[in-house]
Amino acid sequence: MLSHNAIKTLATEAGFDLCGIARATRFEQNELAYNRWLDNGYDSSLEYMRRNCDKRFDVSQLVEKAKSVIICAVSYKSDISGGYSSDDRCKIASYACARDYHKSIKKMLLSMLKQLQAAYPSLQGRAFVDSAPLFEKQYAVEAGLGWIGRQSLLLTPEYGSYVLLGELVLNQEVDKYDTPLQTTGCGECRRCIDRCPTGAIVEPMTINTARCISCRTIESDNNAAIDLHGWIFGCDECQNACPYNKKAKPHNSASFDPLFDPRTISPEEWVAMSEEDFSTRFGSTPLKRSGLERIKKNI
Ligand code: SF4
Ligand code: SF4
Repeated sequence: MLSHNAIKTLATEAGFDLCGIARATRFEQNELAYNRWLDNGYDSSLEYMRRNCDKRFDVSQLVEKAKSVIICAVSYKSDISGGYSSDDRCKIASYACARDYHKSIKKMLLSMLKQLQAAYPSLQGRAFVDSAPLFEKQYAVEAGLGWIGRQSLLLTPEYGSYVLLGELVLNQEVDKYDTPLQTTGCGECRRCIDRCPTGAIVEPMTINTARCISCRTIESDNNAAIDLHGWIFGCDECQNACPYNKKAKPHNSASFDPLFDPRTISPEEWVAMSEEDFSTRFGSTPLKRSGLERIKKNI
C-alpha cells in the first residue's frame, strides 16, 4: 500500500503547490451533467469531447485496475493575470505567457512516478496533463483541493483558479485518502457569470464553447462571428473577476515565469511577424499549439 505522506512529500519536491489523493471511482452526477452538456450541443465544434466517453467515465479504462488518483496543482498567477487594461487589443491568457505547461507538469509527474516505482516495484501508473479524458476537476474536489466555481474551473482557497492540474493514475491503494473541503464554495457570488463578455457561462458550471472566447481563439473551428474583446489567445475575463483570484498568492515556480508580456506587442507587430520569428520567440509556449496564422486571424 502506498504511503500518503510519501506521495505528498514527492509532490512538494517536484514543485507542486497542492496535492490531493482520491480513490479511483465513477462520478455518476458528472456523467449525467456531461451528457446533458453534450445533448445541448455546448461542445459546438469540439468533436473530441464526444469521443472516448467510456474512458472519461471509467478511469480503469485508462489504467488497468486503477485504484488511486493523485491530483497535483501548480499556480501560474503572474502580474499578467488580471493586469490588462480595457485598451489592450492583443490579450493572451496568462498561463500561455509561460513555458508550455503540458511539458513542465508532465516532467514533474513523471519524476514522482519514477520515485514511487523505485519504492514500490509492482506499481503501475500513468501521468496525464490534459492528455486524456478524465474528470480531473471532480477528482481535485474529492481530493480536497477546492471546489468547481461557477466559471467551471477548479477554485482553490489559496491559489484561486490560476492553477494548472496534472494527475497520476495508479493501480495501488494509498494508506489514506483525502476528503473534500468543508466550504460554502462560491456562496452567492456570480461575478464571473456577469463579467463574461459573450454570455458563454449559460448557467453555473456550464460553458457554451461556441460563445467562449477561450475556445474560439484556440481550438474551435466555428466561424460564426463573435466579438473577441481584444483576446487573441485564450481569455481570462471570468477568472479576473473572481474575488479568490484577487487575493490568490502569485506562482512560486520558475517554470511558470512569464517569458514575454503581451502588453508590449502591438497588433501591427503580430501581423507583420514571420513564422521563423514566431517560432524563435514563442516556440516553447502554448501559443505554438494554435500557431501564428490563427493568432493573426484572431487579431
Ligand atoms: S473564458 Fe472568457 S468567454 Fe469563456 S467563459 Fe470565461 S469570460 Fe467567458
Ligand atoms: S467569480 Fe464568484 S461565482 Fe465565479 S468562480 Fe469566483 S467566487 Fe465563484
